[in-house]
Amino acid sequence: MYPARLRNEAARLRAAGESWSSVARILGVSRSTLRDWANGHSMRTNDCPVCGAGDLDAGAYAALLGFYLGDGCISRAPRCHFLRVACDRTQQCIVADVTDLIHRVRPGGRVFHPAAPGVTVVQSNWQHWPCLFPQNGEGRKHERPILLDEWQRRIVEAYPGPFLRGLFHSDGCRVMNSTRRVVAGELKTYHYPRWQFSNASADIRELCCWALDLVDIAWRQSNPRVISVSRREAVAALDRLIGPKS
Ligand SMILES: [Zn+2]
Repeated sequence: MYPARLRNEAARLRAAGESWSSVARILGVSRSTLRDWANGHSMRTNDCPVCGAGDLDAGAYAALLGFYLGDGCISRAPRCHFLRVACDRTQQCIVADVTDLIHRVRPGGRVFHPAAPGVTVVQSNWQHWPCLFPQNGEGRKHERPILLDEWQRRIVEAYPGPFLRGLFHSDGCRVMNSTRRVVAGELKTYHYPRWQFSNASADIRELCCWALDLVDIAWRQSNPRVISVSRREAVAALDRLIGPKS
C-alpha cells in the first residue's frame, strides 16, 4: 500500500507536465502502478491533513476538537460523513465561531445550518471527518473510551486555550454564585463568578482537567460530572483565555 502523499505527489508532477515515465523514475514507482492509480481516480489530490497532503490549521483544529468532544457528533452517510455540532440557538456568536472553525479546518468546504428543535446545528459533510476525529464511534461518547491520538495531544499542548474554549463554550457555562458572610457583625452577600464544565464522559472531563493543568488554571471536581474553576484568579485567567460564552 502506497502512502497517499506519494499518490498526491504523482498527481502534482503530472499536473506540472511530467511524463508518466518521468514520474515513475522520480518517485520510484512502476508505470503500471501509476496507471492503476490514474484509472482508479486515486490520483485526485487528497486534501485530508491526516491521510493525505492537506495542511491543518492547528489552532482552529484544537478549538473544533473541543467543540466536537462537547456537543459534536459524526455520522455516516452514503458518500461522506456528517460532522454536526449542536449549538444553543440563542448563542449566535458560538454558531459563528464553530462555522469559522470548520471553514478553517476544511477550507473550501460548505457549512450548513439545518434547523433542529432549540438548537442551531453547524454541519459539514466530508469523508475525512473520522480521520480528523478518530474518537468517532458507535454509541454515545460517555459509553466508549475517548482517548486522543498522539498527534492530537501535541496539538492541544500547543493550543490549550482554543481547546478549552471549545470545551467550555459547548459543555460549559459561566455562572454567578453567591454566599453570605458575617463581616464585622453585619450579614453581607458576596457574588462571584465560576466556570463549570459538565460532561458525562470521565475521559472528556479528564481531558478538560489536563488542558487546565497545561495553562496552570486551578480546578476541582465539584460533583461527579462537573469540573469547576472558582478561584478568583483562575476564573480571571480562564476569562482571558476563552472569552465570554455568548
Ligand atoms: Zn483522511
